[in-house]
Amino acid sequence: MSTQYPIVEVFESIQGEGTFLGLGASFIRLAGCNLRCPWCDTKHSFDVQAASLLSVDAILGTWRFTQPLVVITGGEPTLHDLGPLVRELKKLGKFVTLETNGTNPVPNEWGIDWVTVSPKPGSNYAINCRADELKYVVDDDFEIGVIQTERVPLQRIYLQVESGRPESASRAFTLVTMNPDLHLRVGVQLHKVLHVE
Ligand code: SF4
Repeated sequence: MSTQYPIVEVFESIQGEGTFLGLGASFIRLAGCNLRCPWCDTKHSFDVQAASLLSVDAILGTWRFTQPLVVITGGEPTLHDLGPLVRELKKLGKFVTLETNGTNPVPNEWGIDWVTVSPKPGSNYAINCRADELKYVVDDDFEIGVIQTERVPLQRIYLQVESGRPESASRAFTLVTMNPDLHLRVGVQLHKVLHVE
């Protein structure tokens, strides 16, 4: 039987975070997560049973992927074998990126072009996979010592403002400006600034 994926939603928007900020992107959100972060804004993706179980053919037949970038996100998408899905997206000429909490490996054979790791306190900030950029949510307990600067090239580490909170924004700003040697960036959520999904 072909691999099936628990689809929460597929939609087209812009990439609102990270290196590809502002680029048109098709998002595939898969259900299921192995963590429970208190500030998670995708809790609706936890329930695998509530998602639509679809094959790659059904996914590509149901949605048109018109944007240059495809973002596979969740939940935690590495809970699923992403190889068959990524291979078909690559045949369409897409640049395929993955958003993961970093707790599971990302096999090279999946063929992912870019891995965004957002390490979480619920996993003790463990990173068990390849990373092309890192995003850390700056909540009240965030400590700069958890950042693994050696994991990615300079300037690819984002301190994400937590849910637009002013306290988090102020803290991210301070951490970036007080640690110039780390070449950190304050991370925004452009889609929220623009009031788009
Ligand atoms: S890892 Fe991501 S999807 Fe899972 S609970 Fe944390 S923020 Fe939510």
